[in-house]
Amino acid sequence: MIHHFPGMPLPLAQLVEQLSGLPGIGPKTAMRLSLNLLSKPVDEVKQLAETLSGLHASMGFCARCGSFSEQQHCTICDQVRRDSSVVCVVEQPVDVLMLERGQGFPGHYHVLHGRLSPIDGMGSEQLNFAALDKRVASGVIKELILATSATVDGEATAHFTARRYSTSDAKVSRIARGVPEGGELEYLDEYTLARALDQRVVWTTSEKLLG
Ligand SMILES: [Zn+2]
Repeated sequence: MIHHFPGMPLPLAQLVEQLSGLPGIGPKTAMRLSLNLLSKPVDEVKQLAETLSGLHASMGFCARCGSFSEQQHCTICDQVRRDSSVVCVVEQPVDVLMLERGQGFPGHYHVLHGRLSPIDGMGSEQLNFAALDKRVASGVIKELILATSATVDGEATAHFTARRYSTSDAKVSRIARGVPEGGELEYLDEYTLARALDQRVVWTTSEKLLG
């Protein structure tokens, strides 16, 4: 099914075809990338090819939390100075990477590998709850922070998770959402704004501003 550029030599056309199957890359960008690769030294391209071909074999998921890992346990689970009593529950391994960019979270994570979605046949048995059950049952976890997405399914997953562990010793919380830092209220959609209001947190201050 090589059709983007008629007359293009087959090896090049195949590369263009494969690259243009990646998200955000159209046929023109794929051709630019392909020609760029062709102009690079052979060794450099070989290195890239080796990285690509070894990707699946060298990457796996942490047996404890479900994040990306090259070993049985990920570097986050293995870091002794992190607080294992606070666990942030997310949908995908990439969410861990995004949250870690903030560099402020001292706790651990748990990746569900999806979210509840009856339409897609995604029930709780398909998600990584068994491992979380074990972690909660161990009694180490004092707080579960639900950081599933602000979608209908993400909300359903958060509610399900909160209910599942409601009788455990772990306190369950939900990340605050809604008004982004510096965000003007007028640019928010009504759903986001309603949620921001609905999920307001109690303002704690030592000063009594209103007397
Ligand atoms: Zn881990």
